[in-house]
Amino acid sequence: MSYLKILTDQCSLCGKCVEACPFNALSQNLQLEVNENCRLCGICVKACPFQALVIERGAKPTANLKSYQNVLIFAEQRGGKLSGVTLELIGKGRMLASKLGQKLFVVLPGDRTEKLVSELKNYPVDAIFVYDHKELAYFRAEPYTAVLYDLIKELKPGIILIGATQVGRSLAPRLATRLRTGLTADCTILDVKPNGDLIQTRPAFGGNVMAQIITPRHRPQLATVRPKVMTPAAKKPSHPKQVFIREVKPEFLDSGISFLSILPKPQETSITEAEVIVAVGRGLKKAEDLALIEELAKSLNGMVAVTRPLVEAGWASYTRQVGLSGRTVRPKLYIACGISGAIQHVAGMSGSDLIFAINKDPEAPIFEVAHFGLVGDFYEILPALIKELE
Ligand SMILES: Cc1cc2nc3c(=O)[nH]c(=O)nc-3n(C[C@H](O)[C@H](O)[C@H](O)COP(=O)(O)OP(=O)(O)OC[C@H]3O[C@@H](n4cnc5c(N)ncnc54)[C@H](O)[C@@H]3O)c2cc1C
Repeated sequence: MSYLKILTDQCSLCGKCVEACPFNALSQNLQLEVNENCRLCGICVKACPFQALVIERGAKPTANLKSYQNVLIFAEQRGGKLSGVTLELIGKGRMLASKLGQKLFVVLPGDRTEKLVSELKNYPVDAIFVYDHKELAYFRAEPYTAVLYDLIKELKPGIILIGATQVGRSLAPRLATRLRTGLTADCTILDVKPNGDLIQTRPAFGGNVMAQIITPRHRPQLATVRPKVMTPAAKKPSHPKQVFIREVKPEFLDSGISFLSILPKPQETSITEAEVIVAVGRGLKKAEDLALIEELAKSLNGMVAVTRPLVEAGWASYTRQVGLSGRTVRPKLYIACGISGAIQHVAGMSGSDLIFAINKDPEAPIFEVAHFGLVGDFYEILPALIKELE
């Protein structure tokens, strides 16, 4: 990333660069300032008679890191329903803020938000900032970026957490670019150093390593967090909190996208929402035998999931894959059939409330994470289990 550097000693405030800039990116009062409209086109550099402007390579460090304090959570809602990841972010955000002795804030863009605000008030946050407007009912990248940017400029949080959902994955990079700061996407572990540096851990190189990333020279620190990985916040309505209704300025709503209508997409429920999962691995001899797994899942009102080799073999859809490069699940019951328990698989299911494993090999690592285990052939065990359930 490059940036426009102003050499204040050489600048005479003649105003030639301000006039020359086609993007209104420069303004001067007591000193020359550059804003987020700057496209680094270099026209101002050429216009300056005093060589007071230079395009520097590399990212411009944040001037005063210490002025950025507190943790801000983006409260994601869809059609007036709070997404689960928001509560997970509040849980983690509370932990980070308490460790630093700082405050936890939530920003909520939406329409007719009273119900959502009441819901958020149950959790241990210090302040809720609300942008309420009918045009904010559904996510559109430009207005949501604009309202968050409006708040962040004023609040100067040290840490901003956003869910790594479809919405968050679209919002966070825009925001990071506008704030000229870094972004660590899809974090699975977060911690913080006493100096406020956020330790952002995420799988890298396809899950072969867990990378720890810090942003030591920039603020705010921006991370998206994989849903279902962090523990949701426990309710604490007694925690004192304030609610601030923020002005939605007309220019925030500028967007190239307009909603014509919202049509529900016929969609199968994701395995991430299932309360019971029956998962199968390479112990499965042929694709047709998935019928046995489906039968058990059906009798438990659950869903079928698989390990990666089955997806690679084309026996199941990627949306059913559990693990580091697949989905992370936390069902009440996870039945693992013919799954060895490789680290990349376990990373996606170890948070399940109850894990029940069936494997022929008594030494299989899956038994280390399972609460209950049966050493045996699932081809024999499952029909008996289904019969018993019937
Ligand atoms: C970068 C990377 C990312 C990855 N991401 C993922 C991921 O997201 N998800 C994932 O699952 N994997 C992932 N993997 C693959 C992972 O390393 C393992 O190879 C995979 O999880 C193994 O799948 P499995 O347990 O089905 O097969 P295996 O390891 O072959 O285990 C099969 C098990 O079935 C048992 N078995 C066989 N027949 C029966 C029977 N009839 N009854 C009972 N038990 C039986 C065997 O004893 C054995 O333990 C990833 C790998 C890499 C390198």
